[in-house]
Amino acid sequence: MSENYVGRFAPSPTGLLHIGSLLTAIASYLDARSHHGRWLVRMEDLDPLREMSGAASAILATLEAFALNWDGSVVYQSQRQHLYQQALARLQAANQVYRCYCSRKTVQSEARGEGIDGIVYGGRCSFLPLGWQPDSAKEPAWRLRLPAVTITFSDAIQGKQVQQLDSEVGDFVLLRADGFWAYQLAVVVDDATQGINHIVRGQDLLLSTPRQIYLQSILGLPRPYYAHVPLLTNKHGQKWSKQTCAPALDVGRREQLVRQVFSYLQVPAAPEVDNITDLLDWGVKHWQLNRIVSEPICTEQM
Ligand code: GLU
Repeated sequence: MSENYVGRFAPSPTGLLHIGSLLTAIASYLDARSHHGRWLVRMEDLDPLREMSGAASAILATLEAFALNWDGSVVYQSQRQHLYQQALARLQAANQVYRCYCSRKTVQSEARGEGIDGIVYGGRCSFLPLGWQPDSAKEPAWRLRLPAVTITFSDAIQGKQVQQLDSEVGDFVLLRADGFWAYQLAVVVDDATQGINHIVRGQDLLLSTPRQIYLQSILGLPRPYYAHVPLLTNKHGQKWSKQTCAPALDVGRREQLVRQVFSYLQVPAAPEVDNITDLLDWGVKHWQLNRIVSEPICTEQM
């Protein structure tokens, strides 16, 4: 089945690539190529308010500079909103979603409690009668109506995961009141539409995966194989990101950076190479996902 492998790297253009995103990009690339699979790039540009101008093209230029060559054309989520709308319409028709008019303040003050990834929505709007209309012309958010449901799956790196979705996460938003699509819905629709069957991504998304698996099940979409690679953290245990001031990748040091990432991914040290493509080929040949550790990796080396 390996010729059917389809993997992907899905950056958000909120900033430039850094060592943490390079680790995810390289892990998904090596896993795909070692299975003779396709490796796609999808730009997750759904929230213009969080975007950094020029980041999308800078990210693609950096991937090219690192010889992380993708298959096909880059997909931009901003151009696929009709697909998310279709998925929402199906859930609306099946009464699996409801309109939510709660302000952020109400959501906070009426929370059912602290969940695993933010607070658990108290459910006020789940009780609104079907034809109910608000006093103002305020647009609602759309939330998923969750039954009592436990999601269990096996992650190739992090092992068995169990999440009681309704109590640990609660009814989550699919379309925000400001009109922007939520990541959880878009990612599920796109992974399925693009035929992606292997998802190798950062551990920070492990807790989101049960939400995505549940959405796949109610939309009748296949469940991909999941592998969540360890996060790179600073000495305070915080994930390297734009917020923790991770420096942008220095393309001039790309060989050193790729070697560094290989060491985090337990790829044996490569001999001297003529170019970055040969270095990546070494990684493909020596890739063994089952050697990767599950714990976060602390580094101050950028
Ligand atoms: N766009 C997400 C990010 O940059 C990744 C989404 C995913 O891999 O599912 O963190």
